[in-house]
Amino acid sequence: MDGSFTYNSLPVRVVFGRGTLSTVGEEAERLGAKRALVLTTPQQEAEGRRLGAQLGNLFAGVHAHATMHTPTDVTEAAMAELERAGADLVVSLGGGSSIGLGKALALRSGVNQLCIPTTYAGSEMTPILGETKDGLKTTLRSRDVLPETVIYDVDLTFSLPPAFSAASGLNAMAHAVETLYAQDRNPIVSLMAEEGIRALAQALPAITADPADAEARSNALYGAWLCGTCLGSVGMALHHKLCHTLGGSFDLPHAQTHAIVLPHAVAYNAAAAPEAMAAIRRALGADDAALGLFDLLGRLGLPRALAQIGMPQDGVERAADIAVEKPYWNPRPIEPDAIRDLLARAYAGERPGQRRL
Ligand code: NAD
Repeated sequence: MDGSFTYNSLPVRVVFGRGTLSTVGEEAERLGAKRALVLTTPQQEAEGRRLGAQLGNLFAGVHAHATMHTPTDVTEAAMAELERAGADLVVSLGGGSSIGLGKALALRSGVNQLCIPTTYAGSEMTPILGETKDGLKTTLRSRDVLPETVIYDVDLTFSLPPAFSAASGLNAMAHAVETLYAQDRNPIVSLMAEEGIRALAQALPAITADPADAEARSNALYGAWLCGTCLGSVGMALHHKLCHTLGGSFDLPHAQTHAIVLPHAVAYNAAAAPEAMAAIRRALGADDAALGLFDLLGRLGLPRALAQIGMPQDGVERAADIAVEKPYWNPRPIEPDAIRDLLARAYAGERPGQRRL
């Protein structure tokens, strides 16, 4: 353990379990809400309406227009709806896209947020908001966007397709991995990070084999909660910088991009972060952290090449240039040639860690 450290705990109320959605009215009232606007994506509108019925008198309507990367024009339209509805609470139902929209509204209006996550992305536990304007994504950290209450209902995750569950779980693991070597890491978040990786590493193969496995679904959501808490508590490093660059520049799918890049980012940092690697090895039950993650992708049937998810071939050079421009702090210094090599390997789906020469 490091001799001294700083730990910021985040004041989020969490209700976890199966069937916990039934507490939504009670939880909304606990926040003093009078009118609650449900936010979700077009794909989850029907679930949003069912949730509305559970809110009873508090229900002020569904706004089902959330989309990836929180574009500001989508937020402006939702702000108008929030005002029209006279809502004092947003209930964000869905993955990071729905929750991102709720955070953007909270930032602009001070409205309270009750989140009901249905993926493993972890945004509900962070004071972080990424917003996109004119194709440029910027990220801010503020207590103003931290949700007040989170209801995790395992039952809502059964419908998440196994392939997306696996990718989303790897997205969560990435938060924990970077926590273990963050500049401001501390023993408390490291405990959560190792446990989060362990829970997801055990749960995801079981979900791939049987998406209706309740115990695995429960463990995955528990792991995602821990990993989200990690992301909310400490700084991000190379992996998140690369994924933000790739997502922003080439509009690649968020969760799948995280899954593909993670083993390569870990290999890049391995020699500079031996304690983190030991924790990842323990959590995965693998001999090598980067290869353990790469093998996990294979076992889960996930794509391992950025080329498979829409990255253009000439994107490697462009992404490498952008990624080294304003790097986040990272345990190993950012070396442009090695970053280009890392991205070339991830583009082609090669095993992590060796030079291509
Ligand atoms: P998403 O929210 O875009 O969801 C992907 C699709 O799956 C959507 O169509 C959604 O409606 C659907 N879906 C969600 N849950 C489902 C379920 N249980 N059953 C069936 N369909 C379901 O994807 P995501 O990966 O959760 O979120 C990505 C976004 O979140 C990105 O914009 C990313 O930047 C952001 N994010 C932010 C943070 C943060 O801390 N600020 C953290 C992680 C991700």
